This record gives sequence, C-alpha cells and structure tokens, in this order.
Amino acid sequence: MNPATILVDMDGVLADWDAAWDAALDVLGEPAATITRSHQRTEWNLNHGLDAAQQQIVADLLNRPGYYADLPAIDGGRAALREMRDEGHDVRIVTSPWVSNPTCASDKLAWVVRHLGQSWGKRTIITNDKTLVRGDYLIDDKPEISGAMAPTWEHVYFDRPTNRTNTTRRRLHRWTNWRTILDHPASA
Ligand SMILES: [Mg+2]
Repeated sequence: MNPATILVDMDGVLADWDAAWDAALDVLGEPAATITRSHQRTEWNLNHGLDAAQQQIVADLLNRPGYYADLPAIDGGRAALREMRDEGHDVRIVTSPWVSNPTCASDKLAWVVRHLGQSWGKRTIITNDKTLVRGDYLIDDKPEISGAMAPTWEHVYFDRPTNRTNTTRRRLHRWTNWRTILDHPASA
C-alpha cells in the first residue's frame, strides 16, 4: 500500500460538535426548545427554518469564547489517526474556524493538543479554504466543500444526517473502518 496524504476534518469527525450543540441548547432551556437538535438536522445551515430570535441564540452560542475547546471526542478518532500514522500515511488535521468566535482557532488547537497530543498540534492546519491544502483524501462531514482551487483530494464523507442526501461520494460510517478509504487509490 502506498503511503497516502489523509486530511481529517475536526468538527463532526474528530470532535463531537453535535453533542456539544445539543447540550448547550438544553442548558438554555425554553428559549432554545424549538431549535433543531443534531439528530433532527438534515440541513447544513444552522439557521434553516429559524426566526430572528432563534438565529440570535445560535449566533450567541457559536460566538461564545471557549465553546470549541470543550467539545467531546468522537469514538475511535484518536485510535484511527494513530493507526494511519503508524502505517506510514501522512495525516493532517484540517479545520475551519468559526471566524466571528474570538477564541475558536486557538480553542481548536488546544483541543487537538489536549485530546490527541502535542505532535498532532503540529499537524493541524487551520484554514477557511480546504481546497488550498493538498492531499489524497479529505474525510469531512460537510456536504459541499469549495474554494479557490480544484481539490487534489477525494472528499470522503464522515457520515452525518446532514450529508446523507448526497449518495455520489464514498462515506465512512465509523472510524474503525478507516482503511476502506484506501480501497480506491487516489492516484489510480
Ligand atoms: Mg466538520
């Protein structure tokens, strides 16, 4: 097996953004009671179907300092990253910050160091344009990823309710299956 460059998204792939979202909405109580919980979400846009007051709750939540530092980890992510690395692949974490949150970028780096270790902090790329990062595969839950360049990577979905309407891409349902992404060599 040739070594591959594998790019791995963070939110919804390594960090359990959905769990944090649901918990934060629950804490807010009645004002947030009718905002869609993660298991109900089929739209990527968090403001889909929300009125102005609900949209303000969403904005305040996503802009809260420290919010991104406290996300739980998704099962199996850490082990999969280590296996990829140990089997000779070049693995990078590629994540886009919520730019209006003043601590999001530094929180993301702190999360990686805390959950994965210092060496992974040095393998983390924080960018708002993932097409500028070269690689063979990008494992990401976002339905569509666009940017300034034609991507060199194959976008493989990390399965989420928000990306299930697109059936054209390969998808990873759980981290223990990560080797299946190598079934279609990128250079073939
Ligand atoms: Mg994501």
